[in-house]
Amino acid sequence: MTAPTTCDVCGFVYAGVTPGDVAPRLTAATTSLANVMAASGDVVRIRPSEQRWSILEYACHLRDVLISIRERLILATIVDVPTGVALHRDERVERGFYRNDSVDDVAEDIRMLSRLLLTTYAVLSAHDLQRRLIYSPVSPNEVTILWAAAQAVHEAEHHLADVEENLTLLA
Ligand SMILES: [Zn+2]
Repeated sequence: MTAPTTCDVCGFVYAGVTPGDVAPRLTAATTSLANVMAASGDVVRIRPSEQRWSILEYACHLRDVLISIRERLILATIVDVPTGVALHRDERVERGFYRNDSVDDVAEDIRMLSRLLLTTYAVLSAHDLQRRLIYSPVSPNEVTILWAAAQAVHEAEHHLADVEENLTLLA
């Protein structure tokens, strides 16, 4: 399977992310998301509707996305065309794995994991960025390491839009 080129929901264009865009765009989106959490008070725990997660749940999801993409970047530089581990995003929420998280901790976690992913990413060569992996057994698209890094940017920007939409819906 070939990888998606755009996100149907937010309009993100994967090919629009150059290698030099990853750090500033990921930092900007994760900083904004952490700032929203710090400024929003108890509303971060409220789901505006049954179809949406709370701001805290979106942030916890993004935290796990950043962890898992960093692992993919490292694995794919060492192993030829490895398969990433599936995130099972809905199950993580439903099983309560985010139940005990505090807003302040998650905001700090997101800043830290963005920094950690980017210090790893900064080591990669232009050749590394073109190495390939199967993104996930659930969505078995063959992608490049650069695509996976762009996916980190996408997830951060997409869920920043989600949390801002939650604030609007709950205002
Ligand atoms: Zn999107």
